[in-house]
Amino acid sequence: MKTYAYGYPRLGRGREFKKIIESFWNGKISKRELKKGLGKLEEEIIYTYSKNVDLFPVGEFTYYDNMLDTAVMLGVYNCPEVNFYFDLCRGKSALDMTKWFNTNYHYLVPEIKSSKFKVSWNKPLKSYKKFKKGTPYFIGPFTFLKLSKCYKKNSEKILLKLAGKYTELISRFNRVHIDEPAFCMELSKKEIQSIKKCYKILEKSGTDIYLFTYYDSVDFLDELLKLDVKAIGLDFVHGEENIKLIKKYGWDRKKILITGLVDGRNVWRTDIKKAVSTIKTLKKYADEIFISNAGPLWHLPITIKSEKLPAKLGVKLAFAEERLYELNLIAKTLNDETKKAAQWCKGINSSFGKNETVRRKIKNLKKNDFKRIVPFSIRKKIHKKLLNLPLFPTTTIGSFPQTDDVRKMRALYNRKEISSPEYKKFIRNKIKELVRLQEDIGLDVLVHGEFERTDMVEFFAKKLSGIATTKNGWIISYGTRGYRPPIFYGDISRPKPMTVDEIAFAQSQTKKIVKGMLTGPVTMIAWSYIREDIPTNEVAYQLSLCIQEEIKDYEKKGIKIVQIDEPAFREKAPIKKRHWKKYFDWAVKSFRLSISKAKPETQIHSHMCYSEFHTIIKQIMEMDFDVISIEAARSHGDIINAFENVKFNRQIGLGVWDIHSPAIAEVPKIKKIVRRALAILAKENFWINPDCGLKTRKWEETIPSLKNLIKATKSLREIYSK
Ligand code: GLN
Ligand code: ZN
Repeated sequence: MKTYAYGYPRLGRGREFKKIIESFWNGKISKRELKKGLGKLEEEIIYTYSKNVDLFPVGEFTYYDNMLDTAVMLGVYNCPEVNFYFDLCRGKSALDMTKWFNTNYHYLVPEIKSSKFKVSWNKPLKSYKKFKKGTPYFIGPFTFLKLSKCYKKNSEKILLKLAGKYTELISRFNRVHIDEPAFCMELSKKEIQSIKKCYKILEKSGTDIYLFTYYDSVDFLDELLKLDVKAIGLDFVHGEENIKLIKKYGWDRKKILITGLVDGRNVWRTDIKKAVSTIKTLKKYADEIFISNAGPLWHLPITIKSEKLPAKLGVKLAFAEERLYELNLIAKTLNDETKKAAQWCKGINSSFGKNETVRRKIKNLKKNDFKRIVPFSIRKKIHKKLLNLPLFPTTTIGSFPQTDDVRKMRALYNRKEISSPEYKKFIRNKIKELVRLQEDIGLDVLVHGEFERTDMVEFFAKKLSGIATTKNGWIISYGTRGYRPPIFYGDISRPKPMTVDEIAFAQSQTKKIVKGMLTGPVTMIAWSYIREDIPTNEVAYQLSLCIQEEIKDYEKKGIKIVQIDEPAFREKAPIKKRHWKKYFDWAVKSFRLSISKAKPETQIHSHMCYSEFHTIIKQIMEMDFDVISIEAARSHGDIINAFENVKFNRQIGLGVWDIHSPAIAEVPKIKKIVRRALAILAKENFWINPDCGLKTRKWEETIPSLKNLIKATKSLREIYSK
């Protein structure tokens, strides 16, 4: 049985991808060196594939993002050379960025402004000619259009025009690899009809199509089987319903079934025996089967080999390279070579990191544990009296510029080149300066700046028991930006306070109120690899209990406001809406559990980055926070419409400064967003703040923008207090 792998990470073992491209951006290497360096990286991937599996795509490699590449191929953007390309990624003409399905990868969102497409680049052709192997790779026309901004929504006409251009592209090859993850969304009947027409056009190319779906099951499998394609890839890890659908509709024996059996999105070793038994079941339906990964492998770091993790954990894990090994193991086991698989799977079911106390606490949770004792309406009055804030209180979302000095000191500290007291002193100085600055500027609720944090998830993961962090487990979040998702392996507990020292220190420096800053359970889970041996809601509640403890410690130190960030709240929602209820149930409850033991006097804030707020506003209301801040500046406050038809009586801060852009926030624009919001929201509930944390901004942008924010607020206060 043949093996087929795809989506191998492009980052490189030593993060060469990032280093090469960023050196080019910084003018340290030439265009030629850029191309040569990245060419070598692509070569390594092809070599890895060909060494380990029978079949694989070619031309997957991108300098930034494959959605953008597809748009350029089709002439949506004109890119005569690489600087134009990078300008679309991060320059003046930068495209919008958004989350790719329910993952933490951000793709560039092409904007289709006309139905005139032109084949301007056949990207996989060059690689195909160079390597003379592999199946040329494309993002499918349906997925491309579905995920783009289009001047005409759901237009079949545009899809069919696109199909014509794709036919031109693919007809150069005997066979192609086409990714259509959007087939796993809940699609309308009309969309399914359009897909059929679209693929009818592709047929004309005479090319064999290897079609891949992943991240979930394909609801319209019966219709999918009617497409004239050579092979169909299905995800049997995240698309549990796929197997039921095959049992129901059968399979088309002329088609190859590419079975996604090893997980592309989580790090636990595959149960080889179970995978083999799935194949045996599928053999009843399909004559030809390939063994493959479920979802692209770029959601995983490259290899586990360079990590120093506890032995009992190490034997449970597999990253991308190990996934290739697993594909072979499955094939071997099918041929009755079972020894290696048994060896590989020896540790997968051993329990590691069990904590009975934590388990008991979770088991004993009662309904009331998910509820603050005093209702919001009364809390609001208490806070008004206690906090004594002006109309339109001003605040920021937490982080302040992480400049080179901060990163350098952290690196020195991590390498043990400076002592812990030295590092602590440095951080305290930073906090002290920042508190003074915020007072000078005139903000009402202050923050400590998060200088001690690398990343809002990894920082907490390192402080909690039951979670491992890696040294080299990088994956791409967007462009060249990487992060290292922590690995949740055991029951989670908080050995000691995590952030209280810094927050209490900040509070000791001022008479104004300082907010405590925490990352919520959903975001912790969404940006990590989590265990699968207990239900996700239990993992979330374990985190909630740690947050509860942290809040109690804050209260002891006189902290009056606590913010729990949940930027991943929307993104983590399942692809299919019919699974939303179950997800939001635990997501909301995990937030409520986190805050349920806070004193009524403590004001709880939450923060979310803007993402289709409209669709989840009801769920958000259930969270029982006192104040929420969300992103709004980039969309010029369009998000306001979401509040038109609901009675939103909580306090809210809509972002008035787009912190993703280096541009300075201007007074008139800030005022415009606020005035637009106040047509719908009550003025006494309204806060004024930037869109998100300021970590990636420069001080030169931050200070004038915040000054403008205060200026605008003062003027608005005058107008609205009359
Ligand atoms: N408190 C975090 C910060 O300011 C929030 C980041 C986020 O929402 N992504 O950096
Ligand atoms: Zn944010």
